[in-house]
Amino acid sequence: HEPDVGEQFTYSQLRVRLAGPHQLQPKPDADDLQFGKLFTDHMFKAAYHKRLGGWQTPEICPMENLVIHPAAKVLHYAVELFEGMKAFRGVDGKIRLFRPELNMARMNASAQRSGLPSFEPEEFIKCISRLVSIDQEWVPHTESASLYIRPTLIGIEPTLGVASSDSALLYAILSPVGGYFAGKQTGGVSLLADPRFTRSWPGGVGDKKMGSNYAGTIHVQKEATKQGFQQVLWLYGDDHQVTEVGTMNVFVFMINEHGERELITPPLNGLILPGIVRHSILGLARQENQFKVTERKITMHELKKAIYENRVLEMFGAGTACVVSPIERIFYMGENLLIPTMENSDSVWIQMRNTLLDIQYGRVKHPWAIEI
Ligand code: PMP
Repeated sequence: HEPDVGEQFTYSQLRVRLAGPHQLQPKPDADDLQFGKLFTDHMFKAAYHKRLGGWQTPEICPMENLVIHPAAKVLHYAVELFEGMKAFRGVDGKIRLFRPELNMARMNASAQRSGLPSFEPEEFIKCISRLVSIDQEWVPHTESASLYIRPTLIGIEPTLGVASSDSALLYAILSPVGGYFAGKQTGGVSLLADPRFTRSWPGGVGDKKMGSNYAGTIHVQKEATKQGFQQVLWLYGDDHQVTEVGTMNVFVFMINEHGERELITPPLNGLILPGIVRHSILGLARQENQFKVTERKITMHELKKAIYENRVLEMFGAGTACVVSPIERIFYMGENLLIPTMENSDSVWIQMRNTLLDIQYGRVKHPWAIEI
């Protein structure tokens, strides 16, 4: 049951305050975009105050700094959650979002677990679409880049009690982005799988997109980089269950012990962020019905055995940032495990990536792509 959040905000209330010509930033070169470094000219904001009855009038305004009290709960207890989605400029020039209702549902689920107010998904999507349309010249004119959208919700009540925040700020900022692993797209990624580290645990919030889930990963990613690996393969438990890779969901395509081709991804058991690309790949693979598709636990023991027996055909990460990212090598307990992801022609990861890109860039008509 949803907590009573009071008054909702609607798109029809949206106020728009445009940046003056002198405030407009030059647009970057699309080949030279680093993730999340540049932002567009405008942002969306909506405040929530319980004592004022709920959500206040939403607005789009020039991109600006926030002013918050030093006691704001977000600054102490990480009462914060966010989303990551993209706007794509299609081959027909139209701008589309990819399944935004799933981001909104996940965001409301994260809000609920954080004691923050929920919102009407459709209303927020309309506000985001308006923001993107105001800054539409920032949506790159190329199929190798897109406009990343970062909706964020923070608890701003200026009191130090560890309790739900009676004031909150919902905002959205936009950043033009290229491929996530810019320049390294030719090969597969290498992973460090170190069972001393974990990113989530049963009963925790690993299945929510809360900022607090990411703070603790930074040191581990740094360690991986220092040792020459691109990403972290996150394990959980004494049996070293494979959970996620970096900030992506993970897929293994292999011949199982019964000789069948099987596409496996870990189940949504609370340890895994329910990724929208994950959900989409599962949907496409089940619809095509070319091989077995399973959401199940897979341990490093099973994976290693299958790799030794040459039964693992592909491994890949899946997420909004890079759609699908092939995995080539895992360093686990002093051993390099090589995965022939890049060696097969006709590979599942390429098919999935192409199908998703065709939908996102409007090369095929599909109900998952929503015109703004
Ligand atoms: N896992 C984690 C930990 C993530 O941060 C993300 C990115 N949101 C994903 C998986 C992939 O989710 P999505 O497909 O919705 O981008």
